[in-house]
Amino acid sequence: MPELPDVESFRRYFDKHALKRKVVNVEIIEAGVLGGISSAEFEDRVKGCTFKSSGRHGKYLFGFMDKGGIVVFHFGMTGSLEYSGKGGEPPAYTRLLLVFPKGDSLAYSDPRKLGRIYWTGTTEEFISGKRLGPDALSPGLEPDEFRKILSGRKGGVKSVLMDQHVIAGIGNVYSDEILFQALIHPEKRIPELDNKSLKRLFITMKKVLNESSDRHASSGKFPGHYLIPLRKKDRKCPRCGTRLQHGTYGGRSSWFCPGCQKR
Ligand SMILES: [Zn+2]
Repeated sequence: MPELPDVESFRRYFDKHALKRKVVNVEIIEAGVLGGISSAEFEDRVKGCTFKSSGRHGKYLFGFMDKGGIVVFHFGMTGSLEYSGKGGEPPAYTRLLLVFPKGDSLAYSDPRKLGRIYWTGTTEEFISGKRLGPDALSPGLEPDEFRKILSGRKGGVKSVLMDQHVIAGIGNVYSDEILFQALIHPEKRIPELDNKSLKRLFITMKKVLNESSDRHASSGKFPGHYLIPLRKKDRKCPRCGTRLQHGTYGGRSSWFCPGCQKR
């Protein structure tokens, strides 16, 4: 399921293939992919426009159009972007296709159909409409602000990290990774974390998300001290050698090290 680092790599992919390109045609294969806008209206607003820049907030990718307005991509569980050259066959499960002047195209494909494409006037409008917290990698999100946002939350730290209304961008896999590297048990409650632990959590969150965005978020390419490639049975903690454990925390299937992450 695409989380902040995955969406960040989609953003870079989008920049490479769609930026400064004019959309000469929009093929909406599955109208259900559009959130809050009709096919006719979407086509009307996008056709003939050029993507001038991109942005990201949490798990949402923004494509800013030269004539105003923003196309917003959310990838649900299985959404992705795929570029095809002229005459190339768009991928299976393509829900929407943006066609460029040379006949090449960018497909939004999504086998499980949980992702959506929206249209918005401004990012502020979209972010407040979805009641999203600050982006986890926003430069404006500093340790004091982070502590302020988390204080008053009583839930388990994993659930709070995954709550998009608190901080946007982190899901199941990266909350596990951040907690593993910050040596915090996923079930610890926010009030149980002292200032030192909160500071460590903050620094680790930034480090993990930055590193992973740069690595294009593809497992296999993670450094040896990462938990992500070890999310399977009978793997040992690269730090202390304890067998990694699996449990349900924050309602999600989670991995952690019982040796390093004490309850
Ligand atoms: Zn360990």
